[in-house]
Amino acid sequence: MATKFLYLFSEGNANMRNLLGGKGANLAEMTNIGMPVPQGFTITTEACTQYYEDGEKINDEIQAEIMEYIDKLEKITGKKFGDLENPLLVSVRSGARASMPGMMDTILNLGLNEQVVDVIAKQSNNPRWAWDCYRRFIQMYSDVVMEVGKKYFEQLIDEMKEKKGVTQDVELNADDLKTLASQFKAEYKAKIGADFPSDPKEQLMGAIKAVFRSWNNPRAIVYRRMNDIPGSWGTAVNVQSMAFGNMGDDCGTGVAFTRNPATGEKKLMGEFLTNAQGEDVVAGVRTPMPIQEMAEKFPEAFAQFQDVCQKLEDHYRDMQDMEFTVEHGKLYMLQTRNGKRTAAAALKIACDLVDEGMIDEKKAVAMIDPRNLDTLLHPQFDPAALKKATPIATALPASPGAACGKIVFTADDAKEWAARGEKVCLVRLETSPEDIEGMVASQGILTVRGGMTSHAAVVARGMGTCCVSGCGAIKMDEENKKFELDGKVYQEGDWISLDGSTGNIYGEAIPTIDASISGEFGRIMAWADKYRQMGVRTNADNPRDTAQAVKFGAEGIGLCRTEHMFFEEDRIPAIREMICSDTVEQREKALAKLEPMQQGDFEAMYEALEGRPMTVRFLDPPLHEFVPTEEEDIALMAKDMGKSVEDIKAIIAGLHEFNPMMGHRGCRLSVTFPEIARMQTRAVIKAALAVQARHPEWTMVPEIMIPLVGELKEFAYVKSIVTSVADELIKAAGSDMKYKVGNMIEIPRAAMCADDIAPHSDFFSFGSNDLTQLVFGFSRDDAGKFLDAYYEKKIYESDPFARLDQHGVGRLIANACRWGRSTNPDVKLGICGEHGGDPSSVMFCHDIGLDYVSCSPFRVPIARLAAAQAAIKNPRATESKCRRAM
Ligand code: PEP
Ligand code: MG
Repeated sequence: MATKFLYLFSEGNANMRNLLGGKGANLAEMTNIGMPVPQGFTITTEACTQYYEDGEKINDEIQAEIMEYIDKLEKITGKKFGDLENPLLVSVRSGARASMPGMMDTILNLGLNEQVVDVIAKQSNNPRWAWDCYRRFIQMYSDVVMEVGKKYFEQLIDEMKEKKGVTQDVELNADDLKTLASQFKAEYKAKIGADFPSDPKEQLMGAIKAVFRSWNNPRAIVYRRMNDIPGSWGTAVNVQSMAFGNMGDDCGTGVAFTRNPATGEKKLMGEFLTNAQGEDVVAGVRTPMPIQEMAEKFPEAFAQFQDVCQKLEDHYRDMQDMEFTVEHGKLYMLQTRNGKRTAAAALKIACDLVDEGMIDEKKAVAMIDPRNLDTLLHPQFDPAALKKATPIATALPASPGAACGKIVFTADDAKEWAARGEKVCLVRLETSPEDIEGMVASQGILTVRGGMTSHAAVVARGMGTCCVSGCGAIKMDEENKKFELDGKVYQEGDWISLDGSTGNIYGEAIPTIDASISGEFGRIMAWADKYRQMGVRTNADNPRDTAQAVKFGAEGIGLCRTEHMFFEEDRIPAIREMICSDTVEQREKALAKLEPMQQGDFEAMYEALEGRPMTVRFLDPPLHEFVPTEEEDIALMAKDMGKSVEDIKAIIAGLHEFNPMMGHRGCRLSVTFPEIARMQTRAVIKAALAVQARHPEWTMVPEIMIPLVGELKEFAYVKSIVTSVADELIKAAGSDMKYKVGNMIEIPRAAMCADDIAPHSDFFSFGSNDLTQLVFGFSRDDAGKFLDAYYEKKIYESDPFARLDQHGVGRLIANACRWGRSTNPDVKLGICGEHGGDPSSVMFCHDIGLDYVSCSPFRVPIARLAAAQAAIKNPRATESKCRRAM
């Protein structure tokens, strides 16, 4: 049977959202439940995909079906396209599966031409209205279909208003509007080189094509990328007979929400304009009145509208966002959809709906967008001040929140300025581990280089500090402590504001306010915990972040990056000494200095965890990251170590690697320098024994994780070092403490050989940052430079370092899970790359059967919610081992 590409509203229903788009499905549903909906038809999303498959053409089959449906609509309405007695006028609107407000195009009053305008002017006895419709149609059609641009038409309107000495569009009379219509058509002809189309069917085909085309306009593409909407979905097109809100003072149009979308308060909220069409409300040409005033102007229509609102909420069991028109006092519903809302409103509405008996807990959990929670956890700009500000540039939104501070260029300055009470933003070409203390002291971080998983981004997300990264537009002059952006020079001490949620950069001070967490937040989270089946841990490497993560509901630490513990000022000399040692003895001497510090760190972390588990990952990064780059630091180090500056420089030069990400790092460090693994094992086990002794009520089971494993024998070698040291210490302490040794899977070879490794490993933690880097073969630090071109050319839709590439990297992970479990059904499986806090990736992790995800502290609530949503949508037969054990 041939594919059916068109549906009358009366043929569809709310469940057909994929095919009819949200708007089409809801128009159908409203029709079915007897709402006053002007009739029409929907051209399916499949027709849109077909349009693209056919090389941006509407094929003959679909064209024929459109003609057939015009016929049907003419019969239903008793009106005809171009008819001189009873002309049919329609609106043409886009409507994708997921709502994308304002992203695509709309055309109203289609079907008008010179003759038809005369007819409706006479019939309605309202020539002003008729000509207003026509000039609007020419304007919209020219802009949307022929891409002539709005500004020429707006200019003509302004000139006309000036000539007539009026300020409002509504003050123009029929003759003015008629003159404008002919000026518009002349403008059209001048730009396009052809007459404005007068055949309504030709107009309709042009409009449908334009809506299909608008699916791929730049703002729609950006919106899709931000909201995880696949480009393959396409948009549906709704063709609906017009109801007119601009026929006089007994007409009007409005938009309304059944509850307040900013606060969630259960009170109708909306705006209404008399004698106007829909776009006037949205475009802000005139100031609309609050919806409540409609009660006085149109008591009957208002009462009916209130009734419709109630019915729609009861029907959809969610807050509705509606568009409607009143034509000569009669109400017409043009659209309804689940309304967009702030995070705070989303939580309140979900809880209220549960309390009102409208939905159950699962539905409440499912209806919150996890990404929105972020805004509840970080400081935000004062909305009034933000409205007045214009960004000077936009870069990667690497870590959410808002920051406002004075520009500083070095980590030391950040520390110093902050110590004397100044608020600072640290601006760097890129950050390095040595900057960590400066990053802690800063309100926000801005980098010129680096992507979403660059050092700055990962560290900032961990700390919950706002970070905007990869702003290539900055011309940096670090030496002279200034930079140039968009032709303006910014010096040290100048104010800057950063929005880590949008990537916007402002060259001025915008005050921030602390976000408040309302009581509903806890309720929703408790329900999420009840229904999720995966564990949620955190990535943390200091007690402060650990405590924060525990507050956010983390059930333990899934990744403690031990190298971060060495970045602090009092540790760096010892680790540098270790790196620059020539002999095992020298190295052991340096390691002996580090051991008590490391043990102390672990003890503090265990204390902050209050008995929850912690996976400690052994040293991972290339060693050269720790060595000094400044002359004075090199000299200091030479002095400390009793070596010459030349010797130290030679050692540093010797550590140089062409590709450090694929170089001497991870477990390779333990293979070459087993004493590092020995020291770290001692620090972990001794810390756990000490904490166990202090807290007999806790059951300490330390977990040691070996990074960057690619081969069983490599893992077995490092593991044997760990077990021999650990067993001896535990025995000597007279303890029977258990411990676990597992490995990261972040090298494709480890994933391919998961069945070899699993019988020897207690757990796998997928390091999806490195795994993505190595599966794609592009650097996690540099990919940001070229990925934009890939989005533009629709090769990739999203950053694979932020959102797991389920098709490639995800498939490898899923297979590794299967292979690993085939030889060791008890191997615990988790993920600790950045994807562990990304909602769609978390849902994927649930679907492939991972036991837990681990993410930065500020993403823990997001991961808890996403895990619950995945479990509600696709429940597993059994709870994961991890949740039972934790
Ligand atoms: C990873 O590679 O995913 C990971 C968690 O390790 P890191 O980011 O420290 O390399
Ligand atoms: Mg890694």
